[in-house]
Amino acid sequence: MGHSPRVLGELLRKDPQAQVRLEGLTWYDGCGGSASTAPLGLAQGRYRLAPPQEWPAIQLAGWTMLPGLCDAHQHLFHQARRSLRTVLAGIKSRSEVGERLRAASAGGPVIGVEWDESEWDDQRAPTRAELDELFPDRPAILIRICGHVVIANSIAMEALPVKPEREAAESGYFTEEDVLHLSRPYPTDRAALLAATRERAAELARQGLTAVTEMGARDLPELAAALEGDFPLRMGYFHAGPVEELPAEPQNGPIRALGRKFFLDGSLGGCTAALGGQYLAGGAGELIWGKSDLCRALEETFSGGWQAAIHVIGDRAVEQALNCLESVQAPAGSARLEHLEMVRPGHLERIAQLGCGVCFQPNFMDRWGRQGGLYEQRLGADFRSMFVRPGEIRKAGVRLAYGTDGMPPLLWPALRSSVDDSLFSGDADSPRDALAAVAGTAAMMASGKSEYGGIKEGLAADFCLVQNDPVAENFKEKPVVALTVMGGRPTWLNTTVKDG
Ligand SMILES: [Zn+2]
Repeated sequence: MGHSPRVLGELLRKDPQAQVRLEGLTWYDGCGGSASTAPLGLAQGRYRLAPPQEWPAIQLAGWTMLPGLCDAHQHLFHQARRSLRTVLAGIKSRSEVGERLRAASAGGPVIGVEWDESEWDDQRAPTRAELDELFPDRPAILIRICGHVVIANSIAMEALPVKPEREAAESGYFTEEDVLHLSRPYPTDRAALLAATRERAAELARQGLTAVTEMGARDLPELAAALEGDFPLRMGYFHAGPVEELPAEPQNGPIRALGRKFFLDGSLGGCTAALGGQYLAGGAGELIWGKSDLCRALEETFSGGWQAAIHVIGDRAVEQALNCLESVQAPAGSARLEHLEMVRPGHLERIAQLGCGVCFQPNFMDRWGRQGGLYEQRLGADFRSMFVRPGEIRKAGVRLAYGTDGMPPLLWPALRSSVDDSLFSGDADSPRDALAAVAGTAAMMASGKSEYGGIKEGLAADFCLVQNDPVAENFKEKPVVALTVMGGRPTWLNTTVKDG
């Protein structure tokens, strides 16, 4: 019947239910299994492990099928909003901040995002005075890459419900709660935001992804509900607002609410992650939730049948999360710890005991954990001894998924980081386990049951076809993605890829 991903893509475009027998390809089950070259069937948008001989066959020698790639910690709406604002990422010299802001700002409020002073020649944060000088007659705010710090000019500060303390008013430097107050007056146009979100999702489909776990955005339940139709990804989401804002009952469609997101602390960049020890510059960060409030909110979440995704970066935040989960006797599989960077002895065992999942960002260590990088600047040269590694999480028997947190939103480099022993002191992941962390395990942690995310009899046919075998090659390079399919339906077909 022919060969190449293109033939398969065109067949499925015409009929997503088509019965077809795929031969000659390499495939992974996405659950940690080794490579297989057995023929694989598709029918009614699902996998058939022993396809009948008489089904029409497509030859796919030289291609590898990876099932259900999922970025398990994404901020799709945030990425979309970012595309409508002035991006300050990738800057090396502090003076460029002003240049970019001036170049991009035609009129109206100035919203700069994703500055990261740890990458600048001069690592002082921007100041209120500098912003006032640039924009004396309109509001300007600069949101740090972590989302936990904002610099505001004098006009923007008027949005604060209480007059800021003298020091903050002088520097314009605000954290946590104040970030929300300062950014609230500048909502993005809803139609533009939804269109940009679809564009971001299409870009992820082009990278081979079929799913994301969305981790919070303003008005998330309402925005997610507006995405129905042919959205190219499955999207489970955690909402950072109150339980009452979630839909009345858990849903079953490709876009569904999973539960509630809790921020227990901030970021290492903002010195707001809650540490047992101290930052080099002093301070120990902030715990955002007290024990009794968190216990009550967790109970409310679990009793409503929802999951809890808990943002923990500093070891003191992890300790707080575990104490509360233990105290409310969280049902196994109902909670997941997001980021999990710094742990104390005994933490991993307690996480395993609770049946709690971990969603880890291998790209963080790659970006900020190198010599002289942000982690060393914040915590000192010995910082690595405080950080947990993928291999240790696995050895403890804890369910592990990977997400990028959108920093940047590229899954392939994150996978490469996850298997890099030089980043994780000999405790990196194996390529097959890393694949599972963005396929079968990510799907299990999102849906709680196997429906997609792996290649098993009867599961939804979510996959991408890539050239060569990136798993065997240790994710050395970003592969060429020829075709992405969700539930039998192509979401990306690369027509520039040559046949056979
Ligand atoms: Zn996040």
